[in-house]
Amino acid sequence: MTQLVNLPSQPIECKNLIAGELQAPQGVERVDVVSPYTGASIGSVPMSGADEVARAVEAGKVAFESWRRVPLRERTEILFRFRQIVLDRIDDLSHLAAAECGKTVAEARAGVLKGVEIIEFASSLQNMDDGALLEVSRGVTAELRREPLGVVAGITPFNFPAMVPMWMYPTAVTLGNAFILKPSEKVPLTAQLSGELMHEAGYPPGVFQIVHGGREAVEALCDHPGIEAVGFVGSTPIAKAVYARATATGKRALALGGAKNHFIVVPDADPDVTVDGVVRSFTGCAGQRCMAASLMIAVGDVQPLIDKIVAHTKNLTLGVDMGAIITKADHERLHGELDKAVREGAKLVLDGRGQPAPDGYDSGYWLSPSILDGATFDMECANKELFGPILSIVHVDTLDEAIALQAKSPYGNAYSVFTTRGATARYVAENAEATMVGVNIGVPVPREPFSFGGSKASKFGSHDMTGWGGVDFWSRQKKITTKWALQPDATWMS
Ligand code: NAD
Repeated sequence: MTQLVNLPSQPIECKNLIAGELQAPQGVERVDVVSPYTGASIGSVPMSGADEVARAVEAGKVAFESWRRVPLRERTEILFRFRQIVLDRIDDLSHLAAAECGKTVAEARAGVLKGVEIIEFASSLQNMDDGALLEVSRGVTAELRREPLGVVAGITPFNFPAMVPMWMYPTAVTLGNAFILKPSEKVPLTAQLSGELMHEAGYPPGVFQIVHGGREAVEALCDHPGIEAVGFVGSTPIAKAVYARATATGKRALALGGAKNHFIVVPDADPDVTVDGVVRSFTGCAGQRCMAASLMIAVGDVQPLIDKIVAHTKNLTLGVDMGAIITKADHERLHGELDKAVREGAKLVLDGRGQPAPDGYDSGYWLSPSILDGATFDMECANKELFGPILSIVHVDTLDEAIALQAKSPYGNAYSVFTTRGATARYVAENAEATMVGVNIGVPVPREPFSFGGSKASKFGSHDMTGWGGVDFWSRQKKITTKWALQPDATWMS
């Protein structure tokens, strides 16, 4: 047996991090954290409710009053220390994230490193964001100040246990907010370790807190009047509900949802670039990625490319190139999705079911990649987010037909085109409804300082989650207009 991941040697009992202390809430149900590698419990998590949320909000309010007055430069010094601690502990974070969410350790490591990019961006705010000061009338100046919002919350999904929380809290706390993280109850262990590392970096108690739980905790965060803003990342139905509930109480909210990412392949596409980009995108993280390119729109005759994609995918090794599916129920669901697609008329040109699990991990939730060719857009495999290692292929004759399909999709997250012609790339990029577009890139994640965020049912709210979009979301801009002496040309505005 080759060991693929370091599972925790002892079960980890998660505690909430409130006012700088790890607290096990009393009388609260605990649920098991199950490793997709083995199907066995590796810890447990408390399903906190309104009381725990209220305690965190009170501690956050106290912390905010002094934290907001700490100069930006001093706040970023702590974040800079956190960055080094994360890099020093990257093996522990990566193994823990892999153990609880099923991805490979290399994928988990890449997620932590993407989180580090955000930490670096937030650490640079003192140099990049110096506000503005203008003389707007004779002797009258207008000044722009970026200010924190107060106590804010972030609610995150299972598929990136380190990275998605890091999309939010480094920027939010650096801007002077007190942040409460509610991680996915399926992957609370990495969040717990991140909280301990934040504490080690020197954040004052209450600046970064964790409340574990599920729906009850989320609803309490949305409802609590002491929380100013809610950031959410997860599936579309929950994103929509969280956005509606949080904004109903007057909060600022940004909720990123699910996706069904289209990518167009035309006959002039470079075979190596296309095959590598497509296969990595739909099989990476076992397809459990909001940026997974799961629907290929084949324009014209691209059969040689499809053959290469199938052949390349067949060579992937479970446990090495691909991790496991998050739960037993999702594993079964994905088997059913393949049956359904075949019943609807798609052709299963590669069936990932029944492949052997990695040696020693027989009880885990393993599923090799599958490819469905000849799908039509009305089939669920072509229009629904399956969130597994399944690629569906729809054939069309023209680029315009390919582009028109996206207008029919409820989602607008990522969108890619594989071509060697600049004009084709430009045409697709200009007409895409999705807001994260790739040219010969399978996972077109905008890197810092650009902002991550989709459109349509992939995003509810008007900001973006990372980069400058995140800075705008987690802060408000105050305008101060000043005059020190009566001016000869004074008007009612000056
Ligand atoms: P999920 O929606 O089930 O859970 C997300 C969060 O919501 C978790 O913290 C969970 O505890 C909470 N939650 C679950 N049910 C709830 C309910 N009824 N009421 C209130 N809160 C509830 O998502 P998931 O399965 O953890 O993650 C996968 C989904 O996330 C996919 O749809 C994927 O596309 C999406 N995702 C999107 C992005 C993006 O940037 N758009 C990034 C990562 C994942």
